[in-house]
Amino acid sequence: MEKITIIVPCYNEEEVIDMFYPAVQKQVEKISGCEFDYIFVNDGSRDSTLEKLREISRRHDNVSYLSLSRNFGKESAMMAGLDYAEGDAVIIMDADLQHPPEKISEMVTWWRAGYDDICARRVDRSGETWFKKTAANIFYGFMKKFSTSNEIQRNVGDFRLLDKRCVEALKIMRENQRFTKGLFAWVGYRKKIIPFEVQPRAAGSTNWNYAALFSLAIKGMTSFTTAPLHFVTFLGITISCGAIGYMIFVLIMALLYGDPVAGYPTLMTVILFLGGTQLLAIGIIGEYLSQIFHETKHRPIYLIDEHNGQRMIYKSVLIPAERNFENQKPAEKNNP
Ligand code: UDP
Ligand code: MG
Repeated sequence: MEKITIIVPCYNEEEVIDMFYPAVQKQVEKISGCEFDYIFVNDGSRDSTLEKLREISRRHDNVSYLSLSRNFGKESAMMAGLDYAEGDAVIIMDADLQHPPEKISEMVTWWRAGYDDICARRVDRSGETWFKKTAANIFYGFMKKFSTSNEIQRNVGDFRLLDKRCVEALKIMRENQRFTKGLFAWVGYRKKIIPFEVQPRAAGSTNWNYAALFSLAIKGMTSFTTAPLHFVTFLGITISCGAIGYMIFVLIMALLYGDPVAGYPTLMTVILFLGGTQLLAIGIIGEYLSQIFHETKHRPIYLIDEHNGQRMIYKSVLIPAERNFENQKPAEKNNP
């Protein structure tokens, strides 16, 4: 029988977590010929999410959980789930029931038809502000033009079914600065997009804000394109050419016509403009440098504190390639 693992990253979801399992289970029980199991990843919640997960996994045989040692962010939590998933396919879902469980059967149908990556696209972004929409437009337009991966789909979130082929491929990519959307696109394989309507959060509140979205956008750009670097090079060349032209003009005016060139306004404009451009260029280089800085440390993407009631310890090895989740073995001491 086919087996599908449902991965659920959870951060401070005590209010919705109890609703999640029954709601999803009710839908997946209708799907015949397929067994479902769940991996909940507690991403360092500060509320009682972990206690609730322990309780849910005690009551249901098909539920297991991972608890990370702190809040690593959704991208890392998803990676932990992918590492531990054993199914022939996985489905990634938010804990807050914004992703309708009714869509699962449709995803499974497409998967059986031979697709590897069935992603759900939000059909309605009307709830979003003008600013957020415009920012998203700019971001996706830019990425479409310059990204080195496949096209990154608009309005497609993390709600998707991935075949084991995609999961294994994603597991090789141990980069620290994870822009998962881009990674899904990069992997390729056979993709199918299905529409869905975002539901209101069942309870609790969102963990995103503008600052987090902005930094995610920067991360997306710097991990999948070097176009901004080429842009500053181009800008530098253009400004230099312009400056040489202007210099010749000023010299001719002064030497041949004795024209006293207006000093202060011209100087101010040029200095401010150049200062700004230089700061921009340094900033862009800095963003890439910070990516390199984070990646070269080869830190693990996440650390597991607890796996199904078992305390975990990270067994370090010297070769970075071997630093993967397999080295996180049960520690001797168990929970009280
Ligand atoms: N999440 C997480 N770690 C974080 C932030 C969020 O695992 O640091 C989880 C969260 O519990 C939820 C999903 O990611 O299951 C989506 O988060 P949220 O609902 O806050 O985002 P939104 O739906 O507003 O985009
Ligand atoms: Mg949500």
